[in-house]
Amino acid sequence: MKKILITGGAGFIGSHLCDYLLKKGNRVVCVDDLFTGSEDNIKHLFGNANFKFIKHDIVEPLFLDDTVLSFPRTRESSKIDQVYNLACPASPIHYQHNAVHTIKANTVGVINMLGLARKHGARILQASTSEVYGDPEVHPQTEEYRGNVNPIGPRACYDEGKRCAETLFFDYHRMHGMEIKVARIFNTYGPRMSFVDGRVVSNFIVQALKGEDITIYGDGSQTRSFCYVDDLIIGLVKLMDSDKNITGPINLGNPKEFTIKELAEEILVITGSKSKMVYRNLPEDDPKQRCPDIAKAGKKLDWSPKINLDSGLRKTIEDFKIRMNYAD
Ligand code: NAD
Ligand code: UDP
Repeated sequence: MKKILITGGAGFIGSHLCDYLLKKGNRVVCVDDLFTGSEDNIKHLFGNANFKFIKHDIVEPLFLDDTVLSFPRTRESSKIDQVYNLACPASPIHYQHNAVHTIKANTVGVINMLGLARKHGARILQASTSEVYGDPEVHPQTEEYRGNVNPIGPRACYDEGKRCAETLFFDYHRMHGMEIKVARIFNTYGPRMSFVDGRVVSNFIVQALKGEDITIYGDGSQTRSFCYVDDLIIGLVKLMDSDKNITGPINLGNPKEFTIKELAEEILVITGSKSKMVYRNLPEDDPKQRCPDIAKAGKKLDWSPKINLDSGLRKTIEDFKIRMNYAD
């Protein structure tokens, strides 16, 4: 049984990770400032003796002392064994809302979490992103590709922030011999996505279920590859538990690529919605193509995604219907 800290644990991916690690018999400390996350995502865990929630912004130093880390009926050490660092707003409208705070979360916040992990002798995993490749000129993207990021554009607070976070991880590894893991996560979707974070899967599902226009930005020919959250969680845990010489970065995502128009059509078919597709301006610096090369994850972690877009969307749409009180 490990003691595991998950920052951003009340968010979409983080709450699924809390569930998974608790089910595997671990103790989980979830730290989240609830900026984009919600207690709704973790309230089912509040009665679990192996779960603790701390409301905290990682930009501020975090001290986890014996009182905070004591769990009922245990005499074990109060050290954290593993840290998953997921705390960062992930959707463009949220990370651009306070761009400077997004940069702080990925620099000051990351330094705070690396320092905490170092003090505890814990292994630490960074939730990095395909956005480190920017608007890629290499396709599909391998981990060796160094990216094409506009350092002064509206997405830069996130893209450059995450790039700097990776740099910090590797510097702490070189300077202090820390055990680090860097996952480059590609577009992930599934139950518990926020209705209002503006990301494409949640926008299209909400619009289709409400019978509103489906807002396609640009002509809809830009591509993304969508990974179902359960697949991603297994990849993250495999990476965290891998041999200590495996630092990453490792791409985690589904290599099946779809245009945004194809995604809209698929959601319309599954929901049976009569919504119309309408075309809006493409946001600045919106990447034209994105698809992971996951050969490294296959070789080093024996991981590949198993859930295809159709079945993943069906599960996600069911969850949205329940949360929206949608009647068929
Ligand atoms: P999310 O917005 O649902 O989750 C982020 C969580 O972090 C939220 O609960 C939020 O309240 C919390 N948070 C934000 N800033 C914080 C801070 N300063 N201190 C403490 N908590 C803070 O997004 P998500 O999709 O679950 O993403 C989780 C992580 O995975 C993020 O780091 C994101 O960059 C990364 N990621 C996600 C995707 C994706 O497609 N979902 C793709 C690439 C990378
Ligand atoms: N997108 C869209 N309509 C929407 C929301 C997003 O066409 O209502 C597009 C967006 O311009 C981008 C793609 O869908 O090309 C994925 O956007 P998202 O914000 O989900 O993720 P990211 O751009 O970070 O991959």
